[in-house]
Formats: sequence, structure tokens, C-alpha cells
Amino acid sequence: MLLALALLAATPVARPATPDAEIKTAAERIRPQLVAVRRDLHAHPELSNREERTGRLIAERLRAQGLEVRYPVAKTGVVGILRGAKPGPAVALRADIDALPIEEKTGLSFASQAKGVMHACGHDAHTAMLLGTAEVLASMKDLLPGTVVFLFQPAEEGAPEGEEGGAPLMVKEGALDAPKVQAVFGLHVGSWAAAGQAGWTDGPIFASADTFTIEVAGRTAHGAQPQMGLDPIPIAAEMVQALQLIVSRQIDGRQPRVLTIGRIQGGTRFNIIADRVTMDGTLRTHDAAVRAEMKARMARTVKGVAEAHGTTATLRFLDEGNPPTVNDATLAREVGAPALQRVFGAGAVRVEPQMVAEDFPFYGQKAPYFYFLLGTKNDAKGIASANHTATFDVDEDVLPLGVRAMATLAWDFLIKKR
Ligand SMILES: [Zn+2]
Ligand SMILES: [Zn+2]
Repeated sequence: MLLALALLAATPVARPATPDAEIKTAAERIRPQLVAVRRDLHAHPELSNREERTGRLIAERLRAQGLEVRYPVAKTGVVGILRGAKPGPAVALRADIDALPIEEKTGLSFASQAKGVMHACGHDAHTAMLLGTAEVLASMKDLLPGTVVFLFQPAEEGAPEGEEGGAPLMVKEGALDAPKVQAVFGLHVGSWAAAGQAGWTDGPIFASADTFTIEVAGRTAHGAQPQMGLDPIPIAAEMVQALQLIVSRQIDGRQPRVLTIGRIQGGTRFNIIADRVTMDGTLRTHDAAVRAEMKARMARTVKGVAEAHGTTATLRFLDEGNPPTVNDATLAREVGAPALQRVFGAGAVRVEPQMVAEDFPFYGQKAPYFYFLLGTKNDAKGIASANHTATFDVDEDVLPLGVRAMATLAWDFLIKKR
């Protein structure tokens, strides 16, 4: 300590640096409890907006670490605030905490004890890592140059029909306002890459996701006399084709986009003209302008095809939908990538954006953000299943890496903005 003080005194112009070695040591020290917390959460998964036990557990642990705690926020969520001893700005780190309606088939000793509910997207690992990050940074708060806000967010997978939830509700309830945060960092675990890898971009990383329903009106008649009614089935078929022509013929070929009709339903019997057809689908893009253009063209196409056949059809987007997750380029280059490179070495890699989606970009209404992928696949351990499957698992050896990444991103940002 004396030696360190002497060195500091001898080099007054030295810029402060993130204490990488101390963060690493602290993250390694809590490895057993990271695993224990993750397994406890895994055994007790809770669906979106129903994370009662999970929220209480988080609030208790944060209070025990000496953080200021706001609970509940956005129904079952928690906001923890850690004020460093040194002055500086505020930065937020986010974990989502909800599970999925899937019957677990991993056979793990700590498998889900809740029938039909499973942490199949790894949010148990996200929560354990963010609790660990809070503990690591709390243990170093005498050196911390600013404030870190820990966002434990419910309902990332989507609130139940008719309920608010997730990142939009966290924002609405002021989770980023007091203190006002100047950047938000988040991650997602998954089988996309091997344990020890971190994937980042300096632009789009996840897609927008809009769920829609189309209803085509018809008029029933005998199947032998379609002219007496109005058959919606061939009209719906034409609509499906016409919608795919928007994708292939009307949008700049360099822009990623996917339009899927995943469900189509109509009719009651082989010889009766159906009275209506309903179709459900999803729209994915990586760009807000392409997303808006796709939606406008879909509305025109649905209306136009229906009119051409003398009927009506409605297109309804079910909820607000997730915007594309687009990393702030400056934040990614100046803070995100350098921090990941120090923690993961050659394992930090630039990746292509994915077509899956997240509600994380709603935090972008308040501050620039950086979101990255944490590889948790390990073929040697038989951990290879995809997110959202009944056999999904994560390689727990990466948990301290995730803690180091989050702690380093926060610290680097605070130093940079000081
Ligand atoms: Zn998911
Ligand atoms: Zn997820």
C-alpha cells in the first residue's frame, strides 16, 4: 500500500486506470457463490411479471451488500444503486430475470422444480452474474469513480397479454432517471459461441421483432358453389405470396429482413367455404427505417389484395414490438470493444448481427448502450443446445468472465466520462 502510494506520488500525471487485476481476483473469489445463486434461480424459475421469489432474493442480496435498493420496480424488478467513494457520472448494467413456459428436460441435479417453467434463455445466469458484479464493485467502492445502477428487469420474454412489463416499464418507472445514467450495458448468454468468447458489434446486433395478425373476411357457402359466398382461403394464399414479394422485390437487398407467417387458420370442413382466415406472423429487421417501411407496405398489400377480390382484411400489430438492438458506434469502439478485449483476449470477436430480438433497446430512449453476446457452449461438457429449448444449459465456468466484463465496462465508462 505504501509502495503504491509512493508510486502514485511519483507519477502525478498518470491517468487513472480500471483495476483489472483486482476485479479478476474478486470475480474468481466469488465463483462458488455465482454457481450456487445461478443453480438456486435455475431450480426456481418464474414466468414474466411473476418473478416474486426472484425479485425478493435479488433485493435481499443487494441490501446485504450495502446498496440502495428500489423494489419493486416494473412489477417484480429491482434497481440497486452503488455510489462510489470518488465523484463521477452514473452508468447502468442490466440483467433480465424471467423464465419461459418450457418443460425442462436437462436431467440436471438443479433442474426446474416448477412444472412447465424453465430458465431456458439463461436469465438465471444473467441474474447471478449481475448480483456478482454488484458484489465485486461494492467491495471496491472506495476506488469507484462514480455511481453504478444495477437493473434487474422482469418480463424480457414478453408480459402476459394485457399487462405492461419489461424494459419499457423499467424506463417508464424512472429506473434510469435518479441518478441519471449516461450509458447502459447488457449481455446475453447462449449457444451461439464457445465458452470464453464474447461477440460484439458497433452497430446492429439483434433484430426488431413485431408480431402481427391478419384477418381476411369471407362469406360461407357450399363448397360446390363458391360463387354464392366469398372464399377467403385463396385470397389469404395470394396475400402470403404478395407479402413475400415485399421482402424480395421492394426493399433494398442489402438490408436484412425476415417476414414469417407462422400460423394460418380458416374453415371448418372440406366442403364448406370458410367465413374467415386468420394468419399470425413475425417481422424482423435491423433498421428502424426498414422496419417502418415494411409495416407500411404490409398494410398497403393486405388492403390491396383484399380489395382486388371484393373483400376486406385487417392487419394488426399486436404490441409495441421490440426495436432493433443497435449498439452506439462510439461507445462500442471506445469502451465496449477495448474492455472485452482485456477480459477475453482473442476470445473477443466482432460478430454478425442475429435475427433474434430483445427488449434491451428500449433503454436507448434514455442513454446510449452497448450489448454483447457471451458464449456459453461447451461441446466437451455436452452443453450445446440452443436457447429456448428444453435441454438448454450454460457452461458455468464463464460466470466469473461475465462478472469481469460487466464490472470492467462500467469502470472503464466511468473513467472515460469523468
Ligand atoms: Zn429468450
Ligand atoms: Zn433471453
